[in-house]
Amino acid sequence: MEEVVLRLKELLFPSIADVAVLSVDVNIEMVRVDAHCTTAGAVCPGCGAWSTRVHSSYLRFPTDVASAGRSVVLQLRVRRFRCRNTLCSRRTFVEQIPGLTRRHGQRTERLRSTLASVGLALAGRAGARLAAVLGVSVSRSTVLRLIEALPKPEAPEPRVVGVDEYATRKGRHYGTVLVDVETRRPIDLLPDREASSLAAWLTERPGVEVVCRDQAPFFAEGATVGAPQAIQVADRWHLWHNLSEAAERSVAQHRSCLRSLVPAVPEPEPAPVEDPDGSPWPRGHRFADRTRARHAAVHALLEAGHSRRSIQRQLGMTYRTVKQLANAATPEELFTGQWQNRPSVLDDYKPYLDDRWN
Ligand SMILES: [Zn+2]
Repeated sequence: MEEVVLRLKELLFPSIADVAVLSVDVNIEMVRVDAHCTTAGAVCPGCGAWSTRVHSSYLRFPTDVASAGRSVVLQLRVRRFRCRNTLCSRRTFVEQIPGLTRRHGQRTERLRSTLASVGLALAGRAGARLAAVLGVSVSRSTVLRLIEALPKPEAPEPRVVGVDEYATRKGRHYGTVLVDVETRRPIDLLPDREASSLAAWLTERPGVEVVCRDQAPFFAEGATVGAPQAIQVADRWHLWHNLSEAAERSVAQHRSCLRSLVPAVPEPEPAPVEDPDGSPWPRGHRFADRTRARHAAVHALLEAGHSRRSIQRQLGMTYRTVKQLANAATPEELFTGQWQNRPSVLDDYKPYLDDRWN
């Protein structure tokens, strides 16, 4: 009999010392493991003194990892000891089994770490669903709490920091995300996007040499105040985005110059392009179509009750662009005459330019 119990202990608690299995009770749905701690005494968590004076004992029922499809609950008899150190503020304390229990914990340590790993892979809701399949009943908020209780991973102090905003509710609530640009890993989240929060975060990290950011004024101010030693650079995405918009605008504005470079040839009157809406403006022209799409998007959001500021953020436009689009009753009001489907010297190159653009 004794040998069976020893082998049960080896099977169930291979890496935990000082625990003995008294019996295992198996029914259709559940396994109950009756166990207790085998040390003579315990260390007071208040002062560190060793005590063997048992005050009382009671049963705890922490849930353990499931076994062969059945959920497992320990029936653990734990002792309450008296602390004999007269200077200690604790009169009594309850023993914990290292690697198995913690104070007030309703789950064993190995179940906690299993659920935390599930949560890290799947987050709360999906994590709770998978846990149910694995025979552990847990709520999604508990899964998230277990992740939050994990020790913070040590992140080396960044040298190049990327700053951008993130949304928890798009258009409603924004925070700040900080990324180590060299390792490409996010390192912190700030709950708002205030210059003061960013400045405080940067002040704590004097090793920051470069701050990579977009044009938002709160990031500019926060970086200047918090890391005066650092160079501020525009991030690559915004540089390319702004450059390509500026280049496109500039080319569009100077179309007439291109036309005057070629000798005027008597042009055949272009066949009028019939528009299904009866609009005199052509379809299939990239600038015109894009203006139509942007106009429609802005007006749809306005009708849904969004502010112009919020639309600016959601669509990534400048405030001026939003204002122009919002003030125009139809997209055609924004066409300033340069899109009239006349043959142009550019025509032969348009497929190439379209390719480059795409
Ligand atoms: Zn004590």
